[in-house]
Amino acid sequence: MPLPRPDGDGDKEARGRALVVAGSVPVPGGALLAGIGVLRAGAGKLQIATAASIAPHLGLALPEALVAGLPETPEGGIAAGSAAALADRASRCDTVLIGPGMMDEAAVADLTADLLTRLEPGDGGPRVVLDAGALAGLGRDPAPLHRHEGRVVITPHAGEMAGLLGCSREQVEADPLGTARRAAALLKAVVALKGSCTRIVAPDGRAWAYRGGTVGLATSGSGDTLAGIVTGLLARGAGLEQAAIWGVYLHGEAGNRLCRRIGPLGFLARELLAEIPAVMAALA
Ligand code: AMP
Ligand code: MG
Repeated sequence: MPLPRPDGDGDKEARGRALVVAGSVPVPGGALLAGIGVLRAGAGKLQIATAASIAPHLGLALPEALVAGLPETPEGGIAAGSAAALADRASRCDTVLIGPGMMDEAAVADLTADLLTRLEPGDGGPRVVLDAGALAGLGRDPAPLHRHEGRVVITPHAGEMAGLLGCSREQVEADPLGTARRAAALLKAVVALKGSCTRIVAPDGRAWAYRGGTVGLATSGSGDTLAGIVTGLLARGAGLEQAAIWGVYLHGEAGNRLCRRIGPLGFLARELLAEIPAVMAALA
């Protein structure tokens, strides 16, 4: 499953449009890290949808993106009533990522379910990546996800997986592969269960493991960058499993490059992103 190769004559539309639904007043950087991840993975066009009061700041921090501000909850997240506007925007994109930096769990769960219900299923709609805040409500009612069978990747860490399945973090850590298989079958989605060993599991139970990263990857914002990278690869046309596997590999190798250059701990999640093009180039 090689990475998609860029067409030398292609324009930016040819490498896909991604929408990142992310960020909140307390954590605007989740949207920034994920958005840069999309572009560093080589996707052509990026839109970010976020809480209105942080949108202009994100627009200046990431001038390459179109940034849309949406009505806010009192906690500074995107209000659940924004799903119709988001669905309209998402329907014009190849891939939509929901979750990084979204803090208001109940509102995010409602927004995610409503958006998934409104998105056209199958080839007429975008493929979907769910991370962080967007994962919380999925286990209770997977029906909105099932509409998009074969078109969704989720990227939980052990704690998020425990919340999703209603079990303890210890239970996830005791049997990560079995747990990831259970979630993939329940949700009918590709699961990347993150950790020092990240397992990628398809709904039919096929599984891959990546153990090649470094402990410095366990740092604030790291998962947001991974979600963006996977989204960017999907926008470029990668298959679901291909995007998850290569995304995990590129993220891990970016960490290894920083580890060799500046040391095993203390590199920043944002520094991973500038490494991605060179890691991709080394594969070509
Ligand atoms: P998140 O918790 O969402 O920020 O994601 C953390 C990222 O760091 C994931 O990609 C994990 O796979 C990775 N990670 C966490 N701990 C380790 C570790 N000890 N060794 C290598 N990678 C790790
Ligand atoms: Mg995370």
